[in-house]
Amino acid sequence: MKEVLILLYGGRSAEREVSVLSAESVMRAVDYSKHTVKTFFISHQGDFIKTQEFDEKPDEDEKLMTNSTVELSAKIKPSDIYEEGAVVFPVLHGPMGEDGSIQGFLEILKMPYIGPNITAASVTMDKIMTKHVLDTVGVPQVPYVAVIGQESIAEKIQEVEDNLVFPVFVKPANMGSSVGISKIDSVDQLEDGLREAFKYDNRVLVEQGVDAREIEVAVLGNLDVKATLAGEVVKDVAFYDYNSKYIDNKITMDIPAHVDEKVMKNLRHYAKLAYRTVNGSGLSRCDFFVTKEGDFYLNEINAIPGFTQFSMYPLLWENMGLPYADLIEELINLGKEAFEVRE
Ligand code: ADP
Ligand code: MG
Ligand code: MG
Repeated sequence: MKEVLILLYGGRSAEREVSVLSAESVMRAVDYSKHTVKTFFISHQGDFIKTQEFDEKPDEDEKLMTNSTVELSAKIKPSDIYEEGAVVFPVLHGPMGEDGSIQGFLEILKMPYIGPNITAASVTMDKIMTKHVLDTVGVPQVPYVAVIGQESIAEKIQEVEDNLVFPVFVKPANMGSSVGISKIDSVDQLEDGLREAFKYDNRVLVEQGVDAREIEVAVLGNLDVKATLAGEVVKDVAFYDYNSKYIDNKITMDIPAHVDEKVMKNLRHYAKLAYRTVNGSGLSRCDFFVTKEGDFYLNEINAIPGFTQFSMYPLLWENMGLPYADLIEELINLGKEAFEVRE
C-alpha cells in the first residue's frame, strides 16, 4: 500500500497564490512509487474543497487545479480530510496556515503533518513575538519599537523618534509576503504607515531600516537540526515588496551567497539557534540582513517558506546535495517522527 500524502493549499491569507504554486510543484515532484497524493484547496473564505488525486506523476502538460479552476460544489467539512495513516503537508502561508491554527486542527485529528508545530508556527507568525523571544537568547536583530493597539500611536511615534533612525520599516505583526509593510523616510509619514499596517493587525512593529543584503539560510530537522549554506536574494529594487517578489520576478538568487567565511558560519549558527529557540520542527527559512561592514541581523523566520521547485528554500538544499524530491521525502519522515513523539 502506498502512503497517502495530503496537500492543503490555497488558504485565507494574502499569500494564497504562492501557496498554489508551491503545491503544484510538490504534486509534480512527489515520489509516486511511495505515495499517492490527495489535494484539498482552502478557499479565501476558509472552505475546504476536495480537488485532484494522483496515483502517478501528472503529465508535464496536465493542468493542475488552481484557485481559478476549483469546483466550489466539492466543499467538504474540514475534518473529512481525515484518513488513517495519511500524512498532511499544509503548503500554506500566513495567517490560518502558518500560524498554528491548521497545525492544532491536525493534532486534534491525530494526523501526522509536515512543518512547524503549533508553537513554532504561532511564534514565528508574529513578528513582535519572534523579536521578544530571540532577544532572550542573543540572536542579533535590528532595533525596534512594538506598537500594540492604535491608541498608543502618538506615544510610540515619540519612542521611534527617540530610539530609531529613519528610514524605518512599519510592519503588521502577523502578515507575510510584504503585505501592509511600508518604508518610512521621515517622522511626518510615520502615522500614515502605522494606520496602513493597523488595517491588517492590531500589533505593529516599527524597525530600524538597514542598508543591507538579504541573505537566507534553510533549516531542516526536529531536534537534530541542519542548516544549509546561505543564499542571497539579489534585488534590483530597494524594497522587496509583494510585486517584486512574486509578480515582476525582479529577483535572482545567488547560491551560495558570497559572504566571508566567518559571516557564513555565524549565519548558520544563528539560524539553528533561532530555530531551536522557537521550537522549530520540520523546516524554516531564516532570513538575515548583512551590511557592508559584515554586521548581520536576523530579519525573520518563515516557518513554511515558499516551496516551489524554484524557491530559495529547496534550492538551498539542492546546493547541499539534497534534491527537491528527496527533500519532500525527508520532510514527510520528520513529520511522522514528530507525530510519534506526540502520540
Ligand atoms: P515578510 O514577512 O512580508 O517577508 P519582511 O520583514 O521580510 O516581511 O519584510 C519584507 C521586505 O522588506 C524585506 O525582505 C526587506 O526587503 C524589506 N525590509 C524589511 N525590514 C527591513 C529593515 N528593517 N531594513 C531594511 N529593509 C527591510
Ligand atoms: Mg515572512
Ligand atoms: Mg520576508
